[in-house]
Amino acid sequence: MFRRGLLMAFLCLSCQAVVAQKHVHGDGQLLIAQDQQQWQFQFILPAADLLGFEYVPESAEQKEKLKSIVSKIENVEEMIRLPRYCTLVSMSHSLFNLNPQSLESTHSHANKHAITAHVEQGHLREHLDIKITYIFKCKNTPDSAVATVMEWASSLHVLNAQWITNEQQGAVKLKSSSAVIRFGQ
Ligand SMILES: [Zn+2]
Repeated sequence: MFRRGLLMAFLCLSCQAVVAQKHVHGDGQLLIAQDQQQWQFQFILPAADLLGFEYVPESAEQKEKLKSIVSKIENVEEMIRLPRYCTLVSMSHSLFNLNPQSLESTHSHANKHAITAHVEQGHLREHLDIKITYIFKCKNTPDSAVATVMEWASSLHVLNAQWITNEQQGAVKLKSSSAVIRFGQ
């Protein structure tokens, strides 16, 4: 799918970015890589900015919140908007890791107790990032993309976008007041 060179470059970029950028609430990343007509957009966002919490949902309200955010991000228009000649090919996300049912089957009993205990104490040992990846096929090279997530994730103040296209690399800090990425500028 992605040529080896580009994939390596992208992995390296994403790797460096993850290491370089600490988990800071209000501060997310968007990594973009092009291979011919394929364009990959990967968001790495603090769970706190999507859900308002960073653990397996406990209350009915939190479970509802998780469900509503999953259906929101499955509607790509709520996250990123590209020109009409780009069509979504696939998407994946890590929110199902927070599903209590999937935890029951994949985690040990003791582990689940530990997570529950943390929730009961009202604090957590670790923070949590959510990864969301969209792959588009674009007949023409898009000159811009709009990070529509900034319109509704109100606590997300900054989205650090980085891209590697066939022609160039670039980076920009997006805010809700200026959420447009212009490739080639
Ligand atoms: Zn956090």
